[in-house]
Amino acid sequence: MRGVMMYAPGDVRVEDRPMPSILEPTDAIIKVAATCICGSDLWPYRGLEPLAAVPQPMGHEYVGVVETVGGQVTSVRQGDFVVGSFVASDNTCEICRSGYQSRCIHNVMMGSIGTQAEYARIPLADGTLVATPAYPADDLIAPLLAASDVLGTGWYAAVAAQAGPGRTIAVVGDGAVGLCAILAARQLGAERIIAFSRHPERQALARAFGATDIVEERGDEGAAKVRELTNGYGAHGTAEAVGTQLSMSQAIQSTRPGGYVGYVGVSHGVDLRGIDLFFRSVHLHGGPAPVRHFLPTLIKLIGDRSIDPGRVFDLTLPLEDAAEGYRAMDERRAIKVMLTL
Ligand SMILES: [Zn+2]
Repeated sequence: MRGVMMYAPGDVRVEDRPMPSILEPTDAIIKVAATCICGSDLWPYRGLEPLAAVPQPMGHEYVGVVETVGGQVTSVRQGDFVVGSFVASDNTCEICRSGYQSRCIHNVMMGSIGTQAEYARIPLADGTLVATPAYPADDLIAPLLAASDVLGTGWYAAVAAQAGPGRTIAVVGDGAVGLCAILAARQLGAERIIAFSRHPERQALARAFGATDIVEERGDEGAAKVRELTNGYGAHGTAEAVGTQLSMSQAIQSTRPGGYVGYVGVSHGVDLRGIDLFFRSVHLHGGPAPVRHFLPTLIKLIGDRSIDPGRVFDLTLPLEDAAEGYRAMDERRAIKVMLTL
């Protein structure tokens, strides 16, 4: 089968990889229908994070059709169209049952398997995969793929930021996750949504997803602008979807005392000073999003056409052209690239 491998920063190749097979009775093999390139794939691409292996199989987002299942799999079967999280989880341990499937005690990061490929082995299939009611219409493939990571992650950020009626929510990051956090905050009933963005196309999508205000300033200046827009208070909650020192600090500074920061940008070089945190008096809640927890809700909203997170994919390429997809995202020519098979 064909699959994407990263050999070094900037060096992505599509090549023949061994067909996956059932290794554990809890595994399923899926034929991938669509996959995509994640903002987090850019960290090793830019040389800012070491490769876990050389070459490293790439990709952790996926939708597809179940090909085969192991002997203990009962919730999905051959022919089902499925959406899964970027973290495989048993969905039965105490951590999973409390709603934190991405930190399951048996978790397997799908990035270690690599779903930018024709087929993928899904560990803990019963706990990880959710079947759609029927084979989805063509225009639902992209939004369902978004649910596999960026939508679920943006949703978690909005929930962690306590988005809800009467609330003002700020969103740091205008990539696919930040944009999905805006969509989520809107769905959760937030009254006002302040998006940080300097890019006209992303601002337009932010507004289409529900942003009521756009702030172009960054850092302390950006946070000051949020306070100015909120009678000096700051946002009730802020979703942070970047993962840098600047973005975390901006999120914390944008949030009023007693407010909530939902941080989902994978942290790179972030140092928080205890004394600063102490006097900010904000709740910090984040980490890898428990996408599996939200999947049934998200699949329903997408199936009803209540939300269309598929709009974050502004470039679609065949899997064979993955290298061009990485370049387009690295150069910010694309928000998010879908790879089709
Ligand atoms: Zn678990």
